[in-house]
Amino acid sequence: MLKFSGKKWRWMKKMRAMVLSECAPIETKPLKLLEIDMHQIKNENEILIKIEACGVCHSQLHGIEGDWKDLGIPPTLPTVPGHEVVGLVVETGKNVTNFKVGDRAGITPLLEACQHCQYCKEGKEYLCESSTITGESFKGGYTEYITVKEDFATLVPKNMKPEYAAPLFCAGITAFKAVKAAEPKLHKKVGIFGIGGVGHMAIQFAKIEDCNVIAISRNQNHLSVAKRLGAVDCMVFSKNQDKFLKEMKKRHGMLDAAIVFAPSNIVTDTAIKSVKKGGIIVIATIGENPSFIAFEEKTIRGTLIGSTKDMEQVIKICNEKNLEVISETFPLESANEVLKKLKDSQVEARAVLIP
Ligand SMILES: [Zn+2]
Ligand SMILES: [Zn+2]
Repeated sequence: MLKFSGKKWRWMKKMRAMVLSECAPIETKPLKLLEIDMHQIKNENEILIKIEACGVCHSQLHGIEGDWKDLGIPPTLPTVPGHEVVGLVVETGKNVTNFKVGDRAGITPLLEACQHCQYCKEGKEYLCESSTITGESFKGGYTEYITVKEDFATLVPKNMKPEYAAPLFCAGITAFKAVKAAEPKLHKKVGIFGIGGVGHMAIQFAKIEDCNVIAISRNQNHLSVAKRLGAVDCMVFSKNQDKFLKEMKKRHGMLDAAIVFAPSNIVTDTAIKSVKKGGIIVIATIGENPSFIAFEEKTIRGTLIGSTKDMEQVIKICNEKNLEVISETFPLESANEVLKKLKDSQVEARAVLIP
């Protein structure tokens, strides 16, 4: 089809995409393989990326199934989900200075922010109230191409495989920021509640800071991964809170800090109760925090992804310290089946779609 775009007429190329037109349980395969117009550079500060890999994040599953409609997620339909995107730069706008054709680049869930509000000016652009989220419009990663302003893309070293790098762009940065928020230091006893795509990275970031990590999960497979990555102890989460807290006390006393990745109120409540008075609880997911008692002087801190600067740090640390990213690859067309596996806890850490 001939279309007017980027101030000139051009033939609109098509690309394959897994499109969500209506939120529905993943069992009904709500993502449909469609041919949609390929994104084109519309501003001179944008780059066009040919996607090599896109991680499959748990929060995307909630969005697709409509669990977070009350939170305004997804804000519009249809969408192309996917917000852990890595690929090769195939075209650059005239004003682009940080990327050239052939570079590898990645995009976090923050596709764009206004760049002039107080949050953007503070370097906390992920808190911007006029931001655009990757995967909540037609610009998502479950497809072949995406455009992004260069300021919201991060250079990925050529030696980093796309299926390794992609999960770093949400799971990696979320884990990194959450561990920082827990104020890590030598021998600090840090409990990590929820070991999946994000948790397995958090264990490693906490280990780099010489913390003693205690991994907590409902899933035995995830705990074996945690053990292998260096957790000093692994505990099966039990909904019988008294029993769990007693076991925790017997084995470790009270925790210095806890980080919560499992979106469950009972898990958050248990994490708060596992931490000593004056300790820190970092919550990197949604939910209520029912058991906060002011006189225990605990600090409860929320975190959300991270800035472009944080992302650069994550890439640098993972490259230098050879952190392990456990990922399994699947073809783009199998997105529904992969999300179903994720729902059934059958993904060891991170699934990655390859277009
Ligand atoms: Zn995510
Ligand atoms: Zn802003």
